Amino acid sequence: MLGLMQDQELMISAIIKHAARHHPTAELVSKTTEGDVHRYTYAEFERRARRMVRVLQRLGVNVQDRVATMAWNGYRHMELYYAISGMQAITHTINPRLAVDDVAYIVNHAEDVLVFSDTTFAPLIAAAAPKFRATVRAVVFMCDRAHMPDIALPEGMELLCYEELMDAADEDYVWQDFDERTAATLCYTSGTTGRPKGVLYSHRSTLLHAFSVGQADVIGLRAVDRVLPVVPMFHVNAWGIPYGALMAGATLVMPGRFLDGASLTKLMNDEKVTMSAGVPTVWLGLLQHLEKSGDRLPTMERLMVGGSACPRMIYEAFDGYGVRVFQGWGMTEMSPVGTYNTAKAAHIGMSAQDEYTIRVKQGRALFGIDMKIVGDDGAELPWDGKQSGHLLVKGPWVTNAYYGDAPGSALDQDGWFATGDVAALDPEGYLEITDRSKDVIKSGGEWISSIQLENIAVGHPDVAEAAIIAANHAKWAERPLLIVVPKAGHTIDKASVMAIFDGQVASWWKPDDLVVVDELPHSATGKIQKLALRNKFRDYLLTKSD
Ligand code: ADP
Repeated sequence: MLGLMQDQELMISAIIKHAARHHPTAELVSKTTEGDVHRYTYAEFERRARRMVRVLQRLGVNVQDRVATMAWNGYRHMELYYAISGMQAITHTINPRLAVDDVAYIVNHAEDVLVFSDTTFAPLIAAAAPKFRATVRAVVFMCDRAHMPDIALPEGMELLCYEELMDAADEDYVWQDFDERTAATLCYTSGTTGRPKGVLYSHRSTLLHAFSVGQADVIGLRAVDRVLPVVPMFHVNAWGIPYGALMAGATLVMPGRFLDGASLTKLMNDEKVTMSAGVPTVWLGLLQHLEKSGDRLPTMERLMVGGSACPRMIYEAFDGYGVRVFQGWGMTEMSPVGTYNTAKAAHIGMSAQDEYTIRVKQGRALFGIDMKIVGDDGAELPWDGKQSGHLLVKGPWVTNAYYGDAPGSALDQDGWFATGDVAALDPEGYLEITDRSKDVIKSGGEWISSIQLENIAVGHPDVAEAAIIAANHAKWAERPLLIVVPKAGHTIDKASVMAIFDGQVASWWKPDDLVVVDELPHSATGKIQKLALRNKFRDYLLTKSD
């Protein structure tokens, strides 16, 4: 017997309809590429998104066509998010920090039919367009006529203006329902090893992820929140916030291209932001600004951090400003959030110092996500908080295959997806990522966590950024080598930096040596490129080892 409940497909358009009908006066505030602040209500936003569907139809976009966006967080990008997926085409967000060749590769791989771009990326478009001419019919710059960049496109590819197209369109489109498993958005992994790979989300997976991320023990979005996603909309759908905020009726504040500490502080304070989300480097930049300027964040309640491990000093520093930091973990293949770190009943009454040892972990599984750690032989390892193993995940917002591959091809025979992370799980189910499997250090047969060592190193007052890599060693096969960037105006005293590990880790975990560099190489999503560092420094210790 089937249940007697209404059958409604889980549609992305349901979110924008809800926001316009039940939160018509909530706002979408955007810092524009030109530098001014644009604001309108969800009611106006929804009308413009419907108008954009008519534009897309006029430009010949068909059901399931891929339409690319290369844009900062802002209202036009939001209109495209909802219009493209809402009309049953696929929003393909492109990370503009990728190299020209990678951008061209993924546009060709996705066979995008249109590219919408912020004017900031005109030089990148001009360089990449000759390489993606096969399927792209037009480039649309997300501006009015007065701000149109003057670039040459290959023959047959039109150069169009967003606001002109909008002016010529009607807003009479009516949102349609269709199968919730239909593809909605496409995002390529940053491809630190090999070519980028596409992850294709559905309407259903997007809604289930957004429901989950909105829960009280995750981001916990409310209608009274004013949310500023620093994490870009081209970085795994800004961690689901463009959907979750509208579901909750929260006001969205979009920072555009202005992501430095001073600009963020001003926008957060002008717009009375209560919640924000970004990678650790963003929060380091914000902290440096607060320390230098004496500015404060009086309305900010909580920050979400993810994408890379978050050092304890970030929690401590923001606690000092009355802002609580929460860590999440995930990956492009998981939409992206898999875990979030909020307390359990077992932690009530703990001292702040003890609490930090738990808060710095990546958190516990969201409802819907299951996880396990396994040894090299595939056998499941216990949740003792000590043993590390390969982390496998399952859930309705975890991919089963990369774009273009056979469905199910990214899973093992029991349906688990291998994350490529190495992690421990403690008895309460809190995940601690110790490494990417390709970055692990195996010294004398034992694993050493590079993430734990890096977090300790950045706690030194002279260190701005740190990376630990596996360097070849004659006796132990591999030993940790510390590579550090000094803070501006500071010099590195080797003995002092090395001493910071004493008492914090087993003595055999201590790095063998330290190298000072001016900067570390970063991927398009801001992660340290360990492979490039290893290629440069892997034999550094060989001359010194006994
Ligand atoms: P992104 O999320 O940056 O788009 P990827 O999907 O390429 O990028 O990266 C996912 C990887 O980022 C994870 O597998 C993990 O190694 C790392 N990661 C994400 N969040 C965290 C975190 N909170 N702590 C440690 N590593 C993290």
